[in-house]
This record gives sequence, structure tokens and C-alpha cells, in this order.
Amino acid sequence: SIPLGFFGGIGAASKNGILIKGSNYLEALNAVKYAVFDKTGTLTKGVFEVTNIQPTETISKKQLLEYAAIAEVHSNHPIAQSIRTAYGKEIKDRDIQLYNEISGHGTQVNFDGKGILAGNAKFMNKEQIVFQEPNEIGTIVHVAVNKKYAGYIVISDQVKEDSAKAIRTLKELGIKKTVMLTGDAKAVGDTVGQELALDEVHAELLPQNKVEEIEKLETHKAPKEKIAFVGDGINDTPVLARADVGIAMGGLGSDAAIEAADVVIMTDEPYKISSAIRIAKRTRGIVW
Ligand code: ADP
Ligand code: MG
Repeated sequence: SIPLGFFGGIGAASKNGILIKGSNYLEALNAVKYAVFDKTGTLTKGVFEVTNIQPTETISKKQLLEYAAIAEVHSNHPIAQSIRTAYGKEIKDRDIQLYNEISGHGTQVNFDGKGILAGNAKFMNKEQIVFQEPNEIGTIVHVAVNKKYAGYIVISDQVKEDSAKAIRTLKELGIKKTVMLTGDAKAVGDTVGQELALDEVHAELLPQNKVEEIEKLETHKAPKEKIAFVGDGINDTPVLARADVGIAMGGLGSDAAIEAADVVIMTDEPYKISSAIRIAKRTRGIVW
């Protein structure tokens, strides 16, 4: 039979906006020594704002923004939403002949006889677009039209108010290592890493690379130590499933992430992860 204390622990967590999907995860939370985080939407707000529009000499800022907005017409990525918001006008999707979203790279559309690409440097390189890497702080979205570079748009995100406190508290609770895994550029990852005093940052990762990072950690840790991964996006589901404890941001997070997770933070506050560990420790005091 399941000891009553487990229900107490799960109940206490749920009163704090934390959904724990089984008593085995309470036990696992107790043994977490490595806390691994996604960046966008997990440690940062995931609400981007366009801060610079830099076209090549041949087109205007307005034209560049329009191309980007067309390329992002169907994407649910927070980057895409910010570009559409900055553009502000409606795009008729009946004029789009083809739409492709390439995970961790960007988007591709055919529109009005033009092939438009919008995405990161990795994507431009893959498509053999000739361009120069700008020296700017923020997430850079490059745009190419008919295989020719058209310029870039800079967007920025902000760390959540409680992220620094969350990382600090986890260290106080005996977490050995805090790690951030991101598909974003290294400069952006490092800035967030320094601001939050994270132990490690791994940037420019594809979803499958995030799983590989978890597997690397696994070979380094002691057998009884557990790895928690915290994420919010559809992209994060393989990693959420792979970690010992998958924790999803449930408020604005995707349904797929919530489903793949073992623990769901309903309020999207990273600080709640330490609350979950505290509740798990208290429950152990009662049950074991
Ligand atoms: P994160 O790991 O930060 O959650 P993602 O894996 O969702 O990021 O995306 C990684 C990177 O891929 C983004 O930082 C961006 O450069 C690029 N990217 C992904 N989707 C898009 C998109 N719809 N438009 C432009 N760039 C994108
Ligand atoms: Mg994310």
C-alpha cells in the first residue's frame, strides 16, 4: 500500500500550484543533484520585442520587416509572434504557396514568386546564404529572399523576476550543478548565464543535442543522483521524457510539454522548483 504521507506531499504541492504526477517523482525530487533548464519561456519570459531592424542597402526597414513577418506567418514560436506584432498588419495566408518550419533553425515560405527564409546563422549557413555575423546583443533573425541576404532583425527577451532566486535557492538545497541548454546564440546564452550565476551554459543546440547533454551528465553523476530538466516547449518533450524528473512550465507552456512532464509548475515560476524539492524533503521526513 502507498503510505499516506505521499498523498500529503502531492496535496501540499498542488496547493502551491505544483502538479506531481506520482509518488515516485516525490522520491526522485529528493535525489535531484543536477538541475538543467531550457532558456526561452523557462528562465526567460519568452516574450520577445523587436529592438533593431537592419536591412541591406537594397531594401527598406519596412520591407525587411514585411518579409520576416511573411516568413513567420504560421509559426507559434515566441520569436515569430514578436515579429508579427512589430509588423502590425495582417498577412493573407492564401498567398503563401509553401510553408516550412525547421526546428531550431527558422522558417521558409514561398510567397508571390519569392522564396523567403527567416532564422538563425545556422539556418543561413545550411542554406548557403552569404552574410556577416552582426556584433549585436540579442537574438538575431536573419532574412534571405531568393537565396540572397536581405538583412537581420534583433529581438530581445528578459529573464523572469524569480529566476535568479530560483537558481540561488536550488544551490542552498544542495543541487550540485545548475545548467542551461538553449538553441539560441552563444552570446545570448552566456549573458543569461552570467546574470543568473548558472554553473554551465550550452548554446546553439538542436532538440536532439539537448537529449545528448542529459546523457553526458548521466555518465558523470553518481548512480543515486538524479537529473531534473525544466522546459516549456514542444521542442523540449524528448528531454523532459529523458530526464529522471521532467518538469514543465504549465501556464504558458505547450500541451505536449505538460503531457511529457512528471511535474508541472502551473504558475511558470522557476522558484516553484525549489518549493517542490522542499515539499519532497518534508514528505520523506514523514514517510521514510
Ligand atoms: P530555445 O532553446 O531557446 O527554447 P528553440 O529551440 O525554440 O530555442 O530555437 C532555437 C533557435 O532557433 C532560436 O533561438 C532561433 O534562432 C531559431 N528559431 C527557431 N524557430 C524560429 C522561428 N520560427 N523563426 C526564427 N528563428 C527561429
Ligand atoms: Mg523554450
